[in-house]
Amino acid sequence: MSQRVVIVGGGTAGWMSAAAFARLLPSSCSITLVESEQIGTVGVGEATIPHIRYFNQLLGIEEREFLAATQATYKLAIEFVGWGDRSSRYLHPFSAFGSDIEGVDFHHYWLAAKERLPHLNLDAFSLASQLATSDRFAPPPPYADLGYGYAYHLDASRYALFLRRYAEQRGVARCEGKVERVEQAHDDGRITAVTLESGARLEGDLFIDCSGFRSLLLGKTLGVTFESWRHWLPCDRAVAMASDPLDHLPSYTRSTATLSGWQWRIPLQHRTGNGQVYASDCVSDDEASYQLAQALNSQSLGEPNFIRFEAGRRAHSWEKNCVAVGLSSGFLEPLESTSIYLIQMAIIKCIEFFPFAGDFTMSRKAFNRWMELEYDRVRDFLILHYHLNRRKDSEFWRSCAAMSIPDSLREKIALFRESAIIQHYDHGLFAQPSWLAVYLGQGLRPDSVDSRALAYSPSVMVSSLESMAARLRHLAKAAPLHREVMGRGGLAR
Ligand code: FAD
Repeated sequence: MSQRVVIVGGGTAGWMSAAAFARLLPSSCSITLVESEQIGTVGVGEATIPHIRYFNQLLGIEEREFLAATQATYKLAIEFVGWGDRSSRYLHPFSAFGSDIEGVDFHHYWLAAKERLPHLNLDAFSLASQLATSDRFAPPPPYADLGYGYAYHLDASRYALFLRRYAEQRGVARCEGKVERVEQAHDDGRITAVTLESGARLEGDLFIDCSGFRSLLLGKTLGVTFESWRHWLPCDRAVAMASDPLDHLPSYTRSTATLSGWQWRIPLQHRTGNGQVYASDCVSDDEASYQLAQALNSQSLGEPNFIRFEAGRRAHSWEKNCVAVGLSSGFLEPLESTSIYLIQMAIIKCIEFFPFAGDFTMSRKAFNRWMELEYDRVRDFLILHYHLNRRKDSEFWRSCAAMSIPDSLREKIALFRESAIIQHYDHGLFAQPSWLAVYLGQGLRPDSVDSRALAYSPSVMVSSLESMAARLRHLAKAAPLHREVMGRGGLAR
């Protein structure tokens, strides 16, 4: 069916949408993207999770070309520094820890044997963690028990440009200019056209709102309300600064807790992305930018970029003939690098539901429910990081530990505390190993473990865990340094 699709906004969300639609929608559709250089883009957003590889594959993008165009590096994990107590440090890798034994999750055995194995932390049982801690990178080996995922750190502006070229080559029309007016049908309020400052008018059947925090179509025009989650995720500002590339080129993102938020470090080929996320009630913009510059030893390149935001999402993402993708539909801070994933999910679902014709009440309901769940589950996982802190050194952390949290999250934590069981029927994007990494990394210790793990002979268990860890250490040591892999332009294909 021939439809006119109009995308408003040319940030990461806009160009990801345009590229995917150009590739995957019927060729009879016309796709137009309007963006305003005067307004610009949010200009940050550099760490991803493994799902982005699927998105690139869907578009037929070759990895080495992508790495060169976006100055990307490989990412195996996130390191959290100072999130439990000030001296704590743990990794959240894109992998499981060990493999289950006779149907019992590995961590029960590790917890049962822990007293006898103080030198082997959980990371000793993840090859991805072992590679990350030694700044190495290799593709996952073909053994199920050692498998892991990997993602990228990328220059988001270059990614948007790369996708723009891709989309334009496939027929997407780009229109430069500021949307000044949005027209709606008198009968049902659907959007019929947008008019630019220049007077140009773009009519459409389907409108994709990628206008960023402005939420020009979904929020401003159609009046879909914003649900704030500030009471759970109190950070509302960020300042970003680039610095020189790191010689050792880590294969992980670092998140370091500060007195009133946290700092990110994202290693790219041509520079390092750094930023501080903070609560404006607790620290001023100047102080935050000073703290970040101090952490960088004044090695920053260029001016700081300040960004204001509020955690939350629109009540729904699809209203009438408009779907919001990206920041126009909601925002969750980049602690687990999930925004590009949420963009990707919205696009994939849009394509599934295309052409949005006829009476699509049920489709709209299903789409909105899907996106709500995606947001809500990521939200819970982020709150977990704040709530489980054991820091006593600032009012910010004390109030995060004391805050009341969503029931869905409270039950999950209580279950783990009681029995070391990780609730898995609605864990969402983040599977059991991710919850385990954060529970234990932040210092939550369960009261008991599975009785089958306790019944195992302690000496047999200790020696089998030791040999498992030795095998992973050996494999990790044999892998090349991440810097060398990137020097060769990425993995050979
Ligand atoms: P924007 O980049 O703001 O683009 C909006 C577009 O709309 C622009 O092209 C603008 O010109 C256009 N526009 C707006 N109004 C008009 C108008 N009236 N007329 C015409 N055009 C208009 N995500 C991750 O996945 N990983 C991360 O590590 C990460 N880090 C982040 C750190 C911070 C501090 C923040 C705030 C976000 C981070 N994100 C991250 C999120 C990521 O930056 C965004 O999800 C992503 O860039 C998508 O933004 P967007 O395209 O929705 O909006």
